[in-house]
Formats: sequence, C-alpha cells, structure tokens
Amino acid sequence: MISTKTQQVVFLDRDGILVDVVFDGGRLVTCRNIKEVSILNGVKEALVGFKKAGYILLVVTNQPNIARGEMTKDDTEKIHNHLKYNLGLPIDNFYYCPHDDGEAECDCKKPKLGMATRLAKEDFPDINFSKSYMIGDRSGDMEFGRQLGCSTILISTAATTWGGAVKPQADYEVSNLSEALSIILNRLNI
Ligand SMILES: [Zn+2]
Repeated sequence: MISTKTQQVVFLDRDGILVDVVFDGGRLVTCRNIKEVSILNGVKEALVGFKKAGYILLVVTNQPNIARGEMTKDDTEKIHNHLKYNLGLPIDNFYYCPHDDGEAECDCKKPKLGMATRLAKEDFPDINFSKSYMIGDRSGDMEFGRQLGCSTILISTAATTWGGAVKPQADYEVSNLSEALSIILNRLNI
C-alpha cells in the first residue's frame, strides 16, 4: 500500500556524523561533555541544505555511557543544547537511548526501533519512512534505517569497523555529510 504520509525525515546518528568520535585511552567512547564536542567540518552547511530541501532533521543516538555511569542524562541534554546553539538550530529534535546492551527495559538501543516508534507516535505522526533517510556510521544505524523502510547512507568513520565489526551494507556509502546531501539532492533532481 502506498503511504499518504507526507513528512520526510533525515535521521542522523550523532557521533561520527555530526561530531567527531572520541577515543579515550584506546577506547571508543562518545563525547561526555561540551569540551569533548568537536563539530565536523561542513556539517552546519549540509544541515541547512537538508532543511532547504524540505526534510525534518532528527538525531537518534545511542548513549550507553549514561548506563555505564560515565555521564548523566543532564550532561547529554547539555551537549544537545550546545549542538542546537552552534548549528544554528536546523535540527528539529534529539532522541537518545540511555541504556546499555542487555537491559530488559530497553526497546530503544539502535537497531531496536523504540526511538522511531515513540517519535512517530508522539511528535511526528505523519512520517513517510519510505521517503526518509537514515545516515550513520555503524551497522546498528543501517539496520535501524532498513527496518523502518528508509534509504540508508553509510558514512565510514573510525567507528564503522571498530573492534573488528564488519562494514555494514547500505544503499549508499559516502565519506561525509556534504556528500550525503549531494546524494539526496541528486535523487530529488534538485
Ligand atoms: Zn534504550
């Protein structure tokens, strides 16, 4: 059945896509405070491009550092406010999973779909997932997008094959967010 829903979304993973991945003593972690936040080159301009093309921009990020006690939900929200401020507000909303693997109450650590089902129910009820994109750097991101019926765009980063992970399949593979924007604009023939 063809969906009549009209909202088109670019779902964005945060770490590796908007901000640099962080290594701490050889461990791959995510930024835990504003000092560790480093917005990647070209991100602000690419986000403006997505908005101009009519997309809603939603960040969906796993933040297991919260469950691991390395940071709090409040720290996470401070980082997101910092990003909103520094990116000139093109991002419509941030969603995060605070859990780690194996927590019974978690339905939201990507590739689980809890973040998407909640935001579609509560905030953006008219999303047409087949006209939406998931952009991320890890297999969980690509699987999340695929299960939703979105097109998937992989940005390869240091995290993509971290710990021996196999590079995931994706509809497109690019090296940064500007290239992802080009792919989407080309498909729209803009
Ligand atoms: Zn969760």
